[in-house]
Amino acid sequence: MSVTPQSKLEFLPFTKPTIDEDTINAVTEVLRSGWLTSGPKVKELEAQLSAYFGGRPVRTFNSGTCTMEIALRIAGIGAGDEVITTPNSWVATANVIIEVGATPVFVDIDPKTHNIDLNKVEAAITSKTKAIIPVHMCGLPCDMDQLYAIAKQYNLRVVEDAAQAIGSLWHGQRIGSFGDFVSFSFQVNKNIMTAEGGCLVLNNEAEAKLAEKYRLQGVSRSGLDGIDVDVLGGKYNMTDMSAAIGLGQIKRLNEFNAKRKALATHYFNSFGEQFELQTGAELPVADFTNSNWHMFHIVLPERINRAEFMQKMLDLGIGLGYHYRAIHLFTLYRERGFTDGMFPIAERIGKQIVTLPLFPAMSESDVERVVSAVKSCL
Ligand SMILES: *Cc1c(COP(=O)(O)O)cnc(C)c1O
Repeated sequence: MSVTPQSKLEFLPFTKPTIDEDTINAVTEVLRSGWLTSGPKVKELEAQLSAYFGGRPVRTFNSGTCTMEIALRIAGIGAGDEVITTPNSWVATANVIIEVGATPVFVDIDPKTHNIDLNKVEAAITSKTKAIIPVHMCGLPCDMDQLYAIAKQYNLRVVEDAAQAIGSLWHGQRIGSFGDFVSFSFQVNKNIMTAEGGCLVLNNEAEAKLAEKYRLQGVSRSGLDGIDVDVLGGKYNMTDMSAAIGLGQIKRLNEFNAKRKALATHYFNSFGEQFELQTGAELPVADFTNSNWHMFHIVLPERINRAEFMQKMLDLGIGLGYHYRAIHLFTLYRERGFTDGMFPIAERIGKQIVTLPLFPAMSESDVERVVSAVKSCL
């Protein structure tokens, strides 16, 4: 049997977390301490995150999905209300709107940034519109000036789905350090992770107190045995084991993001200026000011079948992702009246996008290997 050089190369996944020995030891210490669930490590992580976001109140949770649901609940959004969002996201972004009893209203995306097209938002606003959930796709922020101008004019709450945007900037300010509610995910694929988890940046201590109630069955405690429940909360608290991972990760956030940016730069250099013209594929927006380079996407030309392309890349030992299929075309959403053709840009991107490998432990030669594989598969 002959072995080709390609098959000797290690499998390259589209993402992989970087976990150092200090972090592994810190988790072990938590396990030995006997205090596994929310405790001192959660408090410490919340304090560090709050400092990172310019002193705004921050609470941690067990996902970056419940964070958004809780933000909507704090804002009092529910049955009869409409919430505007993007069809190009992980389905969580729209599911939370349904979860609180409100109605999702989609607005198509910008073909270049893949973020919600803010120029189309005003046409979707009705007397029932209460909030907007924009997504900073791949860590490339939405136009925050335009977003908050619309929110102010129409008196809308904003829940930024910044799941992918930790460390992203707008006019030099960190996403999360300003604005209304800002939600981050620490799911294992994100730029920093806690295995599963998330955090919500809030506006004031009153909102933070309410977030704590929604996080744990609506419970508030006083004294040694005082307890009351006055809102319907869920079970959304982060464990100290997760928080210990997060503390090990946040230390390295700047380093991780700098490496992602360097790798993204190398992707552009390796694809070369003629790549789009020669292949019909589209590269992402080359933003090296604001983006945290959570992912590196290319949009395949219509002539290419995505599943076949992904299989060819797999045969070369390279794993790809696709982020995301348009949400409104899922059965749950079709049953609510959404159909093909309603948001053509999100539909096209949803069918043709692929996510190339990008994570801090990658090398420049890994990038070159991906680029030559992409070129050969096109
Ligand atoms: C990861 C992600 C979420 C969900 O976060 P979880 O922590 O997995 O609940 C929501 N929106 C976007 C855009 C994401 O990337």
